[in-house]
Amino acid sequence: MTDARHVLVVGAGPAGLAAAESALAAGARVTLLDASDELGGQYWRHLPAARPAAHEERLHHGWQGFVRRRSVLAQHPDCTIVTEAQVWALESRDAAAASPVTVHVLIGPPDGTDRTPQTYRPDALVLATGAHDRTLPFPGWQLPGVYSAGAAQALAKGERVSIGDRVVIAGAGPFLLPVAKSLTQTGARVVGVFEASTPARLLRGWSSKPLELLGARGKAPELVEYALGHLRHRIPYRTGWAVVEAHGTDRVESVTIQKVDASWAPIPGTRRRIAADAVAVSHGFTPRLELAIAAGCDITPDRFVRVDDLGRTSVPGVFAAGEITSIGGADAALAEGSVAGHVAAGGDPADVSLRADRRRRRTFTAFAARLERAHGIRAGWTGWLRDDTIACRCEEVSCGTIRSTVRRTAQTGVRSVKLTTRAGLGICQARICGRTVEELIRTAEHDAAPASASASASASANGSVSRTVSTTASAKHPAVTADASLSAPGDSGTDPVRPPVSTDRRPIVSPVRLGELAGLAASARPSLGAVDLGGSTDDRDAAVVSAATDFLDPPDPLDLPDARPARSAED
Ligand SMILES: Cc1cc2nc3c(=O)[nH]c(=O)nc-3n(C[C@H](O)[C@H](O)[C@H](O)COP(=O)(O)OP(=O)(O)OC[C@H]3O[C@@H](n4cnc5c(N)ncnc54)[C@H](O)[C@@H]3O)c2cc1C
Repeated sequence: MTDARHVLVVGAGPAGLAAAESALAAGARVTLLDASDELGGQYWRHLPAARPAAHEERLHHGWQGFVRRRSVLAQHPDCTIVTEAQVWALESRDAAAASPVTVHVLIGPPDGTDRTPQTYRPDALVLATGAHDRTLPFPGWQLPGVYSAGAAQALAKGERVSIGDRVVIAGAGPFLLPVAKSLTQTGARVVGVFEASTPARLLRGWSSKPLELLGARGKAPELVEYALGHLRHRIPYRTGWAVVEAHGTDRVESVTIQKVDASWAPIPGTRRRIAADAVAVSHGFTPRLELAIAAGCDITPDRFVRVDDLGRTSVPGVFAAGEITSIGGADAALAEGSVAGHVAAGGDPADVSLRADRRRRRTFTAFAARLERAHGIRAGWTGWLRDDTIACRCEEVSCGTIRSTVRRTAQTGVRSVKLTTRAGLGICQARICGRTVEELIRTAEHDAAPASASASASASANGSVSRTVSTTASAKHPAVTADASLSAPGDSGTDPVRPPVSTDRRPIVSPVRLGELAGLAASARPSLGAVDLGGSTDDRDAAVVSAATDFLDPPDPLDLPDARPARSAED
């Protein structure tokens, strides 16, 4: 073990890989962890090493750069790469402690029965955990054959499997384009790509500040490639249309698309049915914030990890890069990772080697804002919901149940409504439905509130949910112009110290089997410290026990006078 500063990087997507490389270049000792069994994250998700593809580069942009970076890291004597390493809990440490955090990891196949626990106390932590895609619900979205576009993409790139033969792709954002490309490459017929943003909004969003686009001109060939692919495969690309219903008995047999207005409210009389055996839907991305929240990092009002232009979070020694800080694509993630890794390693922020990355970082941060302006979710989408539309697929809770609970009980705290209806308490722990449930509470509350009560006033007075969702809105779904905060009782969205985290807070970062958890809490494990452990064995065991018991009795400070007790330990 050398005296070099130890940088722990969580996430081996573009941001984490770049962070690891630049931290090594700045002289640090690096441990790179990823839950997946391969490096590359979502962008460079590829076939496993045991079944390599002859021409992997055809499915990816920047593949050669990835291969080079992977080999630099694999061969570097000061770099330890641990795949199948799931960070499941993180404890923030007091300011005086040598390490900013204690990071708990389970190492081994996620389906295995004998994962090895490991604990790290690095000198600096770089969080590069990325995002998952967000799918808004619609009637029938629980049918087999409906996929998030991210899942469709992961199957196509990681397994070469298509989700269906006749596929509809819908949602919002440029991500729909690579998904169409991958699906055609795996043999599917893509019968249409339906972008919900209207042509006028797309034009406004993309054409503003045109000079800014010059910095991101490297994206142009990618765009041309997608356009040519659409032409070659005769894939219609329609804007201002949304999938509003999926039909079928045992699985999807067709979908209904409908024209939407600028607020994404469906326009009556424009429904059309299309035969399809699969549909891939994505309306944007939700950052994976659990570890940053556990570390105590500030979260921005639009719910990303707050960082400065060197990737520093509000917690000394904790850095963040990539899509947990904004949705700007792989180029942004690479630039942010390089900067954060260098500074985490103790490198000089004024170093000339950092200039290009800092410039690229600024360019792509502006790019992220442009994407949000052009493709961000608008409030009118709730207009395609019916009362019987399932909102939480894990627990099969309908939109009507959530809305009527809010109206009947006057409960408007996210957690209260979750505990009453069980929405968000299933296996995905609200990763898929959490923000939808918040939105349903907000709109139900607004519909129920006297006309004079402003959404923002009720938000701060009674701890209900509110956030900016739209600048343009229909009469039924008025835009909320309060500051973009989310609050629940005790969640203090207006408190500058505590972040407005709501459904993003999870005591357990990813599913851990109860048996595993009990084993962690109960047993003293003298074998824990193979790598990089500071402190005594007793300290380490105490840390593991404390993290595991946090799950069984979470130190959640929410004050819930109106909440019913959870029904099972799974909650
Ligand atoms: C499913 C999906 C598919 C995508 N496909 C494309 C595409 O084809 N083309 C495109 O242009 N953009 C795509 N994107 C967007 C693209 O992935 C991002 O722009 C880019 O990858 C962001 O890089 P990142 O490093 O921030 O995060 P990611 O690439 O998402 O990497 C994050 C990594 O962190 C790991 N991780 C997260 N939490 C933990 C934890 N608790 N413990 C251990 N490891 C953890 C994950 O396993 C992952 O490997 C996709 C996004 C998603 C969600």
